[in-house]
Amino acid sequence: MRVGIGTDVHPVEAGRDCWVAGLLWEGVDGCEGHSDGDVAAHALCDALLSAAGLGDLGAVFGTSDPRWSGARGVTLLKEVRRLVEEAGFRVGNAAVQVIGNNPKIGKRRSEAEQTLSDAVGGPVSVSGTTTDGLGLTGRGEGIAAIATALLVVA
Ligand code: MG
Repeated sequence: MRVGIGTDVHPVEAGRDCWVAGLLWEGVDGCEGHSDGDVAAHALCDALLSAAGLGDLGAVFGTSDPRWSGARGVTLLKEVRRLVEEAGFRVGNAAVQVIGNNPKIGKRRSEAEQTLSDAVGGPVSVSGTTTDGLGLTGRGEGIAAIATALLVVA
């Protein structure tokens, strides 16, 4: 078994579609980014790559590669899953926590968990927290996520 960690932060941009944990959150300001700014999906990608010893999102996808411009988080996760499986692993389980004022993860937790679990081929837990008004997430300037993943040898 191998564990990995991943984090991500993106700045919030007023009026931008909010993609978090593979879901579109209506009425919530989303994040800037080369792709769709899905911090939960990106943190999870990094946790999976970390566990497999395959580097990180920047190394795998690049930060300016036009192929991934606007890419959905789930699209990146499926590609990461392919790489992880190619390296001889499968997902034991994973967990991702979204840190920010919005979106309110609890309202759609099971939908988010199902979406991410389907993408990576193993159970993914999704949770949310705030920072009580402190820091960039507390001021609503950004959304952050932290993830862990456990891979098992296939
Ligand atoms: Mg990112």
